[in-house]
Amino acid sequence: MIAEIISIGDELTSGVRLDTNTQAISLRLGDIGIKVHFHTTVGDTLADNIAAFRIAAARADIVIASGGLGPTADDLTREAMAEAFHCPLEFREEAMQHIESLFAQRKRPMPERNRVQAMFPRGSKIIDNPHGTAPGIDLAVTTSIPEGSTKQCRIFALPGVPAEMLEMLEHTVEKRLCEEMGAGQDRLRFHSLKLFGIGESDVEQLLPNLIARDRDPRVGITVSKATITLRIAAQTATESEFQRLIQPTIDEVRGTLGQLIFGEGNVELHQAVHRLLSDRKLRLGLLEVGAGCWIAPMMSQEQDGGPFGLRAADWCASERELHSRLSISATLPNTHSQLTDLLKRAAESMLNERNIDVVLAVGTYPTLEEVTRGAGLPHTDFTMCLAVAGKPPASTTISIGGHPEVLYHRLAKSALNFLRLELSRA
Ligand code: AMP
Ligand code: MG
Repeated sequence: MIAEIISIGDELTSGVRLDTNTQAISLRLGDIGIKVHFHTTVGDTLADNIAAFRIAAARADIVIASGGLGPTADDLTREAMAEAFHCPLEFREEAMQHIESLFAQRKRPMPERNRVQAMFPRGSKIIDNPHGTAPGIDLAVTTSIPEGSTKQCRIFALPGVPAEMLEMLEHTVEKRLCEEMGAGQDRLRFHSLKLFGIGESDVEQLLPNLIARDRDPRVGITVSKATITLRIAAQTATESEFQRLIQPTIDEVRGTLGQLIFGEGNVELHQAVHRLLSDRKLRLGLLEVGAGCWIAPMMSQEQDGGPFGLRAADWCASERELHSRLSISATLPNTHSQLTDLLKRAAESMLNERNIDVVLAVGTYPTLEEVTRGAGLPHTDFTMCLAVAGKPPASTTISIGGHPEVLYHRLAKSALNFLRLELSRA
């Protein structure tokens, strides 16, 4: 059973208002095992609405529309459904009584225009709206499809106001979908694997069959701020059945990508690093050199009350600290080997102070001006050093490019990933 969601309103197509109904409806349908294949957004134009409903009825088994059920001239959903499926509007006394009683409760006269909200396409059922004057419409239609046969589709039209829409969806629509259309046996379940240090296309090259669209469980790949998420999806009745079904996929991905995977579920890289440190009872010191300080804010999100209880970065030092600690002038060296040497010495000197066990020293962050200079976006050489008590310090320099929006996240995450891999090795 596949579904299409239609969101209706000029405020949506113009971008003035964000369409949150589509997201909310899609998530709820997934919970009762209905796959959403199409999202359509259409403005307040009758011909476009008629077309949108006809197209949806021809390709989906279930259509959930929201918006356009108000009493004003730009509310066209009733009329569009009536014309699209040749079921003229007729007056429903019980809907009228509900609308009149709402106005009576609010001690306001009912404008004549609201009568239109009691008009329903012939053959449709009412979806009660306890808190608003716009009842919803539940219409089963039969449409001809190009192969010469016909197909059934059930259309639910709900008001646009998100709270009213959601209440009606939960209380009435989902119940009818489960009881009358056999939904709710299975639900769509998801599990994520989080990766850092590899590109999307490299993942696909290493695991060519993983992203295949006809695979079950299906795997999707997305990237956000340099972190890759592999989302494994399957439709099962129980969580244990889901776990059993996805385990071979998890094993296959782990077998191929190994250490590139830093966690599962919603975990972020800095949280994975924090867990690693707190599991080993290690106190972290940070030294960030250059324009800005990017790792410390990520790590201090985990401070006090964070999910792991411990403070993430126990001590953060800035570039000024570097100068005074090593008695050097305010200008940093401009060769990588000199900078690496300096960061290593600083990291080692911070060890053992204030019970710090591990020091991550990184630099230098380029200024925004350096990043955006010239037509192209230049790459940045970035050095990271890790000092751990009782061992010689480790270091590496990488060259990273990218849009400034992503670049600083990528630099900070690269350093955290370096820390994670070095600690895992130990
Ligand atoms: P309508 O039912 O078209 O009169 O919509 C009533 C109000 O609900 C609109 O003015 C919007 O503010 C809001 N609304 C309508 N559709 C959506 C949607 N898809 N997502 C979020 N808000 C919406
Ligand atoms: Mg509207």
